[in-house]
Amino acid sequence: MISLLLLLFCQDGAQVFLSEKEAVGRVFDRDMKVVKRDICLPAEVSNAVDRKLGRRVEDRYRLYIGLKNNKVARYAIVTDEVTKTLTMTFIVGVSVKGKVTDVVVMVHREYVGAEVAKRRFLNQFPGKDVEDPIRRNRDMIAIVGATLSCDAAMRGTRKVLSVIQEYLTKRPENVSSLLTASKPVTEQQYVMGTLCSITLYGPRDVAADAFAEIRKWDGILSNYDPESELSRLNKSRSANVSPDFLRFLKESRSFYESSEGAFDITVGGLVSGWGFPKKNYRIPSEGELKQLLDRGLKVEGDRVTLEGAAELDPGAIGKGFALDRAVDVLRAKGITSAFLDFGSTVYALGTPPGEAGWPVAIRDPFQTEEILGTLTLTNEALSTSGDYEKYFELDGRRYCHILDPRSGRPVEGIASVSLLAKTATEADALSTSIFVRGFASAKGACMVVLTGADSPVKMTPAWRNVFHVPSASAPPVGQK
Ligand code: AMP
Ligand code: MG
Repeated sequence: MISLLLLLFCQDGAQVFLSEKEAVGRVFDRDMKVVKRDICLPAEVSNAVDRKLGRRVEDRYRLYIGLKNNKVARYAIVTDEVTKTLTMTFIVGVSVKGKVTDVVVMVHREYVGAEVAKRRFLNQFPGKDVEDPIRRNRDMIAIVGATLSCDAAMRGTRKVLSVIQEYLTKRPENVSSLLTASKPVTEQQYVMGTLCSITLYGPRDVAADAFAEIRKWDGILSNYDPESELSRLNKSRSANVSPDFLRFLKESRSFYESSEGAFDITVGGLVSGWGFPKKNYRIPSEGELKQLLDRGLKVEGDRVTLEGAAELDPGAIGKGFALDRAVDVLRAKGITSAFLDFGSTVYALGTPPGEAGWPVAIRDPFQTEEILGTLTLTNEALSTSGDYEKYFELDGRRYCHILDPRSGRPVEGIASVSLLAKTATEADALSTSIFVRGFASAKGACMVVLTGADSPVKMTPAWRNVFHVPSASAPPVGQK
């Protein structure tokens, strides 16, 4: 009854019965201390759950642990389950013995079937456990007219019971690591023209050391600071460079070679020719373009010479390269769990304690407030190059900041490229070069969003395997 009093109707037909806070208050006793943990099931647990249920289910859940006198007394998991085409969100409380203590519906989104939230149906759950099948009309009576929603509640409850059994009951070490997990520290600094954030499990001053390393590389690579080694070379055209700068130039050159010239840090003159750095956008004349295409970079020992119109622009690789150097610092200081976020390029070191990896979301390039899906990263980098980051429009045509170094013109037809790689340098450089070369050149785990095509999202098989699309827009959950 109380749930009906709290019933709210949203514009889209979704019915919100309880907020998460209220629902958590329902499933735990007043004298319990409740801790919240976002969990991501490791592959072996997730496979065991899938096998048990005979279908593939998500591996991320919000888990609550209720403690009484410092001992675990109850668990609860918030989850979604598809009713007809939309999902409903509910919480299932489970005792340490693995028996359901309560099921509470928080949000029901389908136009029909919301009666599932009534106590007369939900009261049938307490006492059920993972070995006690929960089947319609045999173990539980569904509500006429709300069958699909009732089935979803039964399916979801079995899912929660299986997750708790496989992840917590059978592996008690997960419970202790979830409870002892210290809080991570996060440091944010504005560097390399953008906000960088480092989250790590360990002492805060290690994050400061990592930032000092990033600043060191900014001091070498910045094309905004006239005193950086890169800016000085752009001016002097030829110089003996430091071992650090040489290392950066050699790595950049190897991506130039492997991308057959699609990735080229000598495009600085072209990028300025189109007016990107100062936002004085313009279309260069054919003659100007031709002159800017005549470029070269010569490296002999530590002597580096810029030829023709070559001007170094670190924009497509510098952040990734600096992130890798910061990761080197963290590893050297014994950090095993950290997430370094430069916006378009991120690196995940290890996993957060008790979890399968670091969750990241991929933005929809057409509606940048929306996400296309999520991934869980471990000891790998993710980078996205997007046409929405910097661009100008003229006569209905979009000119983006990523240029094809061979034609000198902005790339058209691609909205974004996201890709996974073992290092941030590689992820950063390859997301840019695949943006130039197109999906056909994509290797490993990569997703390309095209513009103006009927089917604008293209994924490599390796990407499809690790990419998780939010359940509300996913096709109904089927067998594996
Ligand atoms: P990203 O966002 O990592 O793809 O880098 C894009 C930035 O790199 C641009 O804003 C330019 O400064 C620079 N850039 C543009 N086109 C290229 C290219 N083909 N190769 C290397 N750098 C580029
Ligand atoms: Mg890049």
